[in-house]
Amino acid sequence: MTLSRILGITEAQYRKLEEIANKHFKNIKGKIDGVQENILKEIILAKPNELEGISETYKGLAEQFKNKYKNFTNKKKEYDAYELAESLNINTCPYCNINSTYTVIKNKDEKITRPEFDHFYDKATYPILSLSFYNLIPSCHTCNSSLKSSKKFSIKTHLHPYSDNFNDKVKFHLHINDSRFFYNEKGFKIALKTEDVRAKNNIDSFKLETLYQNHKDIVLELIQKREIYPDSYIDELAHNYSGLFKNREDLLRLITSGYVEDKDLNKRPLSKLIKDISEELELI
Ligand SMILES: [Zn+2]
Repeated sequence: MTLSRILGITEAQYRKLEEIANKHFKNIKGKIDGVQENILKEIILAKPNELEGISETYKGLAEQFKNKYKNFTNKKKEYDAYELAESLNINTCPYCNINSTYTVIKNKDEKITRPEFDHFYDKATYPILSLSFYNLIPSCHTCNSSLKSSKKFSIKTHLHPYSDNFNDKVKFHLHINDSRFFYNEKGFKIALKTEDVRAKNNIDSFKLETLYQNHKDIVLELIQKREIYPDSYIDELAHNYSGLFKNREDLLRLITSGYVEDKDLNKRPLSKLIKDISEELELI
């Protein structure tokens, strides 16, 4: 399974997420001394909107959780962050959609790469949430280590990738500076638009507007593709190559080089940028 719509997951994907969370709990069980199993279950499986309350209720157990995360990220343990990342199967960072976050384990034990796990509620302030499933966000190094680090996030201040839909709340927008925009990146900039205060905080915390300017080449290509592919030509291609493409979306993916359906945005980096700008240009 792929949690492909992590930027706003569907009901079915949420159920799958709960299954993975339960498996995570079973693997953690017995590894935290001095915490009753039913309480441990509450802590590990607390939903995003319950995390803060759970931390407050069980703050007396903080010592038992300190340093346990180190064991979880140690490659040599029988259950570790690699296994969790592999079952989540999230291919691009849900905070930025810029960097890949795939997991590669070769021949069952050669652990090559995995996403980092960001603690949505930072682990220095909330040590008992250090292994809570919904507090562990698979993410890229830039978002987790370089930008978020120990910044204070909560569901009141920021969008949570497992419970909020960044895709619906934010749109990329082509901001044209001058007539050079058809052939020169200096003629435009990439803007991010939202009416949502928490989404705005995500954009600011992860410096998304600044970072996305490094991908203006892709937007320029989309502008030029819009010129090269008028609707009549796309219709003609769809007709002439009907055996090659499953449907029109398939052809549009080839033209835009991005997945154009919401459910697929996580499959390839920069898909949201490509989708939003392609829609603005009426390419899709
Ligand atoms: Zn990221």
